[in-house]
Amino acid sequence: MIVRLCFTLLLSLVASGCTPREQGARELSAEGWIDVTATLDPARTPVYEGDAPMQFGFLKDMRKGDKLTLSVYSLGAHSGTHIDAPMHFVPNGAPIDQVALDPLIGAARVIDIPDSVQAIDAVELNRHDWRGAQRVLFRTRSTLRGWMDSAAFHRQFAYIAPDAAKLLADAGVVLVGVDYISAEQFGAAAPRTHQILLGRGIPIVEGLDLRPVQAGDYDLIVLPLKVRGHEGAPARAIMRNRTGNERKLWLGAVR
Ligand SMILES: [Zn+2]
Repeated sequence: MIVRLCFTLLLSLVASGCTPREQGARELSAEGWIDVTATLDPARTPVYEGDAPMQFGFLKDMRKGDKLTLSVYSLGAHSGTHIDAPMHFVPNGAPIDQVALDPLIGAARVIDIPDSVQAIDAVELNRHDWRGAQRVLFRTRSTLRGWMDSAAFHRQFAYIAPDAAKLLADAGVVLVGVDYISAEQFGAAAPRTHQILLGRGIPIVEGLDLRPVQAGDYDLIVLPLKVRGHEGAPARAIMRNRTGNERKLWLGAVR
């Protein structure tokens, strides 16, 4: 009887051509979500040259006889995985508490940039299938070398060149992400990439740890701390595979 019931259920699923998950009956859960946030740890998280050190202390500590444990944090707003709001480089630009949720939640494409490439310029960008993506995240040498998990600051991180930033902005991309603590070339004469993206109201996610994901299409949620009137804040970023990645990966392997 139970066997027949299961068979009938299976048949009805096959007949309807979809699973309960696709029918929208599934409860929201952590299933399938991948954490791409860099862990904040002064021993392992890089700090941009000249930025404030990260300090995580205990005001009270049960391990030392206190009745409770209570921490105090001191860190730069652009520590670890974080979001730059327009206010960072745009006069009268929106602060982090005014950045809308729309760019921060939705479809994102991870693009693999080879280890040999430091400048993601327009030519490099157009070597990849980025058109049509609403959010673009670059998985670069910084991920391949584990630089978001290494206290030393590496000046040779891959960056988005201004001409590529303009292409992305002109195409209507709503969010751009990189896997090291800045999207701008180290030592750039002017912060053109930031000015172009933030000037168009496009937030930038910096310091993603993209080691757990591959090139492909994902759902992305990245939520910065809501600090009133400031230009950036640390964020938690999670991603979930969208269908079709298997094909992309296969094509990538053939190429
Ligand atoms: Zn930043």
